[in-house]
Amino acid sequence: MIPQANPGAGYRALKAEIDGAVARALSSGWYILGNELRAFEAEFAAWLGVSSVIGCGNGTDAIALALRGLGVGAGATVVTVSHTAVATVAAIEMTGATPLLVDIDPVHYTMDPDALQSVLEQPPPGLPPIKAVVAVHLYGQPVDLDRIVPLCRRFNVALIEDCAQAHGARWHGQRVGTFGDAATFSFYPTKNLGALGDGGAVAVSDPALAEKIAALRQYGWHKHYISDEVGVNSRLDEIQAAILRAKLPHLDRHNDRRGEIAAAYTAALPECTLSPPVQRAGAGSVFHLYVTRSKQRDRFQADLKAAGIGTGIHYPMPVHLQPAYAGRVALGPSGCPETETASREILSLPMYPELSDADVETVCSALKTLLRHD
Ligand SMILES: *Cc1c(COP(=O)(O)O)cnc(C)c1O
Repeated sequence: MIPQANPGAGYRALKAEIDGAVARALSSGWYILGNELRAFEAEFAAWLGVSSVIGCGNGTDAIALALRGLGVGAGATVVTVSHTAVATVAAIEMTGATPLLVDIDPVHYTMDPDALQSVLEQPPPGLPPIKAVVAVHLYGQPVDLDRIVPLCRRFNVALIEDCAQAHGARWHGQRVGTFGDAATFSFYPTKNLGALGDGGAVAVSDPALAEKIAALRQYGWHKHYISDEVGVNSRLDEIQAAILRAKLPHLDRHNDRRGEIAAAYTAALPECTLSPPVQRAGAGSVFHLYVTRSKQRDRFQADLKAAGIGTGIHYPMPVHLQPAYAGRVALGPSGCPETETASREILSLPMYPELSDADVETVCSALKTLLRHD
């Protein structure tokens, strides 16, 4: 069976380096907020092209910390999409802010800039003022930053880039995570840069904001044991930081490998009725996921399973239809029809850098020969 994702293969491919990093962290005698984290924060900031990175417990906390750092919480509305990991919406509610979910563009699956513009121009009645937008670079594909950045500026709302699936993705050659007021990352094991446990980070280029977020992640302490404001406990531990330091130098090469695999799948797909993902002009996707689409999605999934190929659905139920949010979460005036259709038709093929050429060939020949549903 070729799985859809395979974090164990990621560990085995770099076992000596990762084991060495873990041993170093364990021997150091310091396990929380120490040298490994400081070094990782500096190395990740340099790689990304921002002045500061603040490690935290996971990618959900990263979004909440970024919002709180920017002064967004209770009494504010935050616009994002329903077609995302539920984490994005959960993080907004963690701050006390009200999420407002808008539809996606059906070709690229990211926030529809027209839907964003319409709620900024005419906010739905009864909601607190819109103070921020969380733009999700979903599947490794940048949102349309040419439209979204100027809209946020014009309406004076903060822009947070949710880069949990887009470490290294580029927009007109520049890495995403450097366009907004803050960017957030997850290092969940299956992400493009994955720890072997939970981890996350916020990236900013404003030193005062960096200091505020660093305090918020640890009880609001600017000085030890003195809370100047109410914070949380969300720290990236030394073992995970050491593992991330071992993996970071391989990230660009891993993303290139994802691109090669994606190109092979796309070359195999025109012979079947599963549509390949489409890259937006100006976007350099890092293919966190390779997401195809078909009205016959369930049949394709069953056929691929029978051929020994694992697939996934990201995500099977839009956030606004999930029991915890249905009937309660605010939607834009036209709802999210494209999100609802996409969730019934999308299918993610195996995608991780350690897929061998032989595995890729197995998937491609299954795509070419098995799949002829119309
Ligand atoms: C994974 C993910 C998150 C949350 O990250 P965790 O580390 O699991 O908390 C947030 N947003 C998106 C788009 C994600 O894919």
